[in-house]
Amino acid sequence: MTSFVRNWVILCLLVFSVGWLLAHRLDAFKLELDLLDSANHYSLYAESSSNIEHTLITEGISPKLKCRVQHNAEENYCALTILLSEADGFTNLENGKDLSIYQTLDLDIDYSTPPGNPNIRVSFRNYNSDYTKFNDYTSLKYNTFAFEPQFNNSTSAIPLSTFSVEDWWLEKFKNSKSAMYNEFDNIAFIEIFPNEISEIYDYEITVNRMILRGETINETNLLIAILALWLLLIIALVYQNTVNLKKMAITDVLTGCINRRGLTLWIDKKLFNFYLRDSLCVFYVDIDDFKKINDIYGHNAGDQLLCEFTQIVHETITSYTSVGQSYRLCRLAGDEFVIALFDLTEEEIQPLAKHLISAVTVPIQLDTCVVKISTSIGINYTEKKPEKFQDLIDRADMAMYYAKKHGKNQYKRFDKTIANDLFYRQKLSEKIKLAFDKREFHLNFMPICDSKTLHITKVEVLLRTVSENLEGIGPDVYIPIAEEYNLIHDIDMWVIEKTLQTIKQNTQLLSNSPVVFCINISALELHHDQFVTKLEILLRRYEIAPDLVELEITETSLVDTNSRSIDTLMAIRKLGVGLALDDFGTGYTAFSQLTNYPVDCLKIDRSFIRDLDTQNEIQVTMLKAVLSIAKAYKLETIAEGIETQEQLDFLRDNACHLVQGYLLSKPIEFSSLVTLLKSKKPLDQNTTKPA
Ligand code: C2E
Ligand code: MG
Ligand code: MG
Repeated sequence: MTSFVRNWVILCLLVFSVGWLLAHRLDAFKLELDLLDSANHYSLYAESSSNIEHTLITEGISPKLKCRVQHNAEENYCALTILLSEADGFTNLENGKDLSIYQTLDLDIDYSTPPGNPNIRVSFRNYNSDYTKFNDYTSLKYNTFAFEPQFNNSTSAIPLSTFSVEDWWLEKFKNSKSAMYNEFDNIAFIEIFPNEISEIYDYEITVNRMILRGETINETNLLIAILALWLLLIIALVYQNTVNLKKMAITDVLTGCINRRGLTLWIDKKLFNFYLRDSLCVFYVDIDDFKKINDIYGHNAGDQLLCEFTQIVHETITSYTSVGQSYRLCRLAGDEFVIALFDLTEEEIQPLAKHLISAVTVPIQLDTCVVKISTSIGINYTEKKPEKFQDLIDRADMAMYYAKKHGKNQYKRFDKTIANDLFYRQKLSEKIKLAFDKREFHLNFMPICDSKTLHITKVEVLLRTVSENLEGIGPDVYIPIAEEYNLIHDIDMWVIEKTLQTIKQNTQLLSNSPVVFCINISALELHHDQFVTKLEILLRRYEIAPDLVELEITETSLVDTNSRSIDTLMAIRKLGVGLALDDFGTGYTAFSQLTNYPVDCLKIDRSFIRDLDTQNEIQVTMLKAVLSIAKAYKLETIAEGIETQEQLDFLRDNACHLVQGYLLSKPIEFSSLVTLLKSKKPLDQNTTKPA
């Protein structure tokens, strides 16, 4: 129920409640049955015992009954009877009139009786469908009421509840289940007659008014009914709310897909009934270069694309009829989706993957633009009941990673190669952990020079290991694995602390030859709660001026930046520590976006510098553009990977501020750096640069 519908229901019930109460007060629920109106009764007649002569005058609207008692007898009886049933004589019991909806009988009579005997009896019987057996004891229930009118021409309201079966009647009936009483049937009737009619006298009763009054519902019952309705509504709303909350907890708000929790719940339920011939297939789907869409067209377009993408995936799978309903599409996070499909056959996997890949490549119309995307899919399929569903997702994720690595816009099934790679990475992560615990890491320092003077102005701190287990494996391999297996934070903090210790121990030297220490940190630190605090504590502990430190974050790692990582960058900068965007040019940062990152320096990636030799004109133009844009944004520029004099000359001519590369110096031990700093000579090929 939407909130709009809910509000309407509440409003309507409120209006009805007030309306019903008001209507009740205005007698809208009142009922009235005029017994003298011939339209309302079946017959009106008089009866008497044989010793009484009776006359019934029905002219005009007030029937008049005259009873002349001629001599006293045992049975004295003279009554005016109104039959309210449409029964056929006394035999048809089907069409009795239900009088139970009436509460009072308004009676206005004139009568003349002998003095001292002013009583009129009124007997009343309601039709009761239970009285179906003619000779049934209860069918002869007969209610009577002693009535004593106060004044002539005045109306008395007799509550029907005061009618009761009188003992004498019951006695009479019990003793004689004879034909006399068999004539009483289920027909509702009202009788009126003089009481104790024993004296020889002319009794006369004129009935001026005889009205049954009641209400379809009394106020208390109406209130109870209204309260019950409100209670029902409240219960329905609470129930609806609970259902909504449950649904929200398992739904992705943006796309309407289920989220990770929803998927887990669904899978758990399905796996409960996983039998021998069942299968489960997981597609891990990731939109290629989704960040670009966000960057170029804005986040609204990105959000809209995710919704359209979801739609396309749903349509593609459902058009895949054999899969039917036993699948779920789940948005894990960002542009990452998981499709879990039950009972897909081996043969169906490839066509479905191809279908999906081609379906998303059609141009997608968004509000402000048309985009063309591609997707990478990792697939994991099992015919055995998986012990942990998350393992299936992880393997599909690995396969997706391979699909990306091999050029995107394709699918990859998790296979032995991937499994081996996974195993290798796991083993390597254990080795990294071991080397770290055994303190088998140390630092190298790579000089960064002023492009004009070739004096060292900065040094990049690079991690090295002496661990035999990691022999031949460089940081470019083990750092990503350390990130993957959550080892990186400890490593980064260790590098920072070790660097600050080194600075502290060489204060004297560094005050003579001040250089900035550039420390690489993983982008994961930008999401780490404690990183900035820990950095601040270390700077204080070793009393290091923050401007002696610069942190390098790779540009590609900023692909998934969110406001939180920008906040961390701001906080680092607030400490006074410099920030450099490493490997610039390998990511997708639009120049216009550079202003979003609070960085001071761009480190142009080695690949650009390498391309200077191949005379790749586009790259050369790009490099020049990067340098001039950096200048416009007042950002310092460092060119990495200078290996030839030509490269150095080009960069110097194009106003790149700083240069770093094997031409000038390889990463060196701190002792060698000390020698270089002490010599105070420019680092060009003529100097005694370290090998
Ligand atoms: P990076 O930050 O881009 O570091 C520069 C890499 O380029 C270094 O490789 C350096 O040795 C290499 N390099 C510099 N000039 C030249 C050149 O002229 N020719 C060639 N062929 N290579 C050159 P390294 O030390 O293997 O580091 C690789 C990557 O590992 C680094 O790339 C950085 O991203 C990461 N890394 C290194 N140390 C650390 C660390 O302490 N913490 C973290 N988080 N990452 C680190
Ligand atoms: Mg670096
Ligand atoms: Mg770099």
